[in-house]
Amino acid sequence: MYIFKYIKITSLLIIFISISVAAFSMAAEEFDVVVVGGGLAGLTASLELEERKQNYAMFEARDRLGGRTYSEKHGDSVFNMGGEWIDSDHKGMQWLAGKVDVSLKKETYDQPIRVTIEGNELSSEDRIALLKSIRQKLTPTIKSLDASQAWYTVDWQYKSLAEVLPDDLSSAERQFINAYLEADEGLSLDELNSFCMNSLHEDLGDFLELLEYKESSWRPSILRNRSAYQYRVKGGMNQMIRAIRDRLSPERIRLEHQLNRISKSADNKFHLSFNHNGAIHDVVAKSVIMTIPFSVLRSLELDESLGLSDLHREAIQTLSYGTNSKIQLRGEMEPDLRYLVNATESSTTSWKLVSGAGLTIFMGGKTGRTLSSETAVPLVRSVLRSLPTSEAGSAAGAVEEALFIIEENWLEDPFARGSYSASGLHAPRLDIPSALKAFNGFREFAEPVGGLIFAGEHTQMDNGYMESAVRSGKLAAKYYLSNRDSF
Ligand SMILES: Cc1cc2nc3c(=O)[nH]c(=O)nc-3n(C[C@H](O)[C@H](O)[C@H](O)COP(=O)(O)OP(=O)(O)OC[C@H]3O[C@@H](n4cnc5c(N)ncnc54)[C@H](O)[C@@H]3O)c2cc1C
Repeated sequence: MYIFKYIKITSLLIIFISISVAAFSMAAEEFDVVVVGGGLAGLTASLELEERKQNYAMFEARDRLGGRTYSEKHGDSVFNMGGEWIDSDHKGMQWLAGKVDVSLKKETYDQPIRVTIEGNELSSEDRIALLKSIRQKLTPTIKSLDASQAWYTVDWQYKSLAEVLPDDLSSAERQFINAYLEADEGLSLDELNSFCMNSLHEDLGDFLELLEYKESSWRPSILRNRSAYQYRVKGGMNQMIRAIRDRLSPERIRLEHQLNRISKSADNKFHLSFNHNGAIHDVVAKSVIMTIPFSVLRSLELDESLGLSDLHREAIQTLSYGTNSKIQLRGEMEPDLRYLVNATESSTTSWKLVSGAGLTIFMGGKTGRTLSSETAVPLVRSVLRSLPTSEAGSAAGAVEEALFIIEENWLEDPFARGSYSASGLHAPRLDIPSALKAFNGFREFAEPVGGLIFAGEHTQMDNGYMESAVRSGKLAAKYYLSNRDSF
């Protein structure tokens, strides 16, 4: 009897508790501001909000922070699988490293630079002559485009760089340009927007200066003013990610929360629906710092109530992302080869041999895209064969003995869908100067819409890459802090 009564009371209690738990879990969590995405942009924004004791939370889809930057340690070698190099003028990244007490390692351009075309290494005179000739051929086209303002016509914006390069470029010159851009942008000539011709001219000028510097004792301006050297985070990018994470309150970091839908209600509050291990987690906030790359954001449900402009929607749908996949080989190679542009048909584009981290092969454009469908080893071997004999000996040996090969194809990654936003073909209206005009420091197509503040590498083009991620995260937090009362 008593037992029966006890069971009844207990059952009622359990039912009551279950109902309360269900009701509790169904209720949306509420914050003043939420950061979506835990890459460098989201982490920087969160750091700023944390320091100013804001009521915020950061939601990240993966089970780790860092987004397109992370490193792995295997034996003595550290492999950076995504973003890695910090240019000398990337002051935002240097500021962040200092702020979280992370050491940077300086890498200079003191190693030889080599250029091979169809497997043949060019002599120093040949490569300098090649670059001078390319620049000479590009100059008249650029001048006439400047004079006629033809850059800005719709006709131009839909063309690829391959279509607009001068006809008098030789096949070797075209191959070289293609390999150079694949390494730099992760897109090939026929995938890049015609507008890139201007920056190509400047970049090749810098490269020429570097090559000439190797042949003589004068110091070119690029070594004085621009990216004369680069930094990397000592011990790999995870050191930096961890250092930032350790400065954030653990309860503010929500991993494995994938945003599916966002809308705005009449009271100006944002409603975000996350998938958390199969369950729906609803969140309400007055403001949102949205750092998801547009390559991913385009597949999410962005409700009409958000009030996005046509330009925003076009950018979200079309902004293209370069592919820069990496194959990394563990080895004991010395850093004897700093920069190699390898212009072959099946161009695997750029190499960096770095002591302690083995050999990294960067593959841009279509080559990068085939990474997932090809076995890495034959691809690597074919490229090693095109190296000058002295390096081929050591590098090929290292491949045979490599304990493992790590491949990362960022195009296939569901939360990145590319390496970084570049001036690709499918961004017709986005790369013209009027759209690059800063609005409160944001690109026009990424300007804040009420309390919805965009951040991430794609929202700023002055520097691009990790640098822009950091700057945009800082800017987004600043924008939130100065406007929060109006949201
Ligand atoms: C192979 C490679 C090499 C590179 N090399 C360099 C380099 O040497 N130097 C350099 O400066 N830059 C480099 N970059 C670029 C650099 O890594 C990026 O520009 C930078 O990391 C972008 O940071 P972000 O915060 O803007 O974006 P991300 O790092 O992409 O952060 C966005 C975050 O949003 C999360 N997310 C996505 N979808 C959702 C969702 N639905 N819900 C919740 N969260 C979501 C993602 O998981 C991610 O963590 C490289 C990139 C790659 C891939």
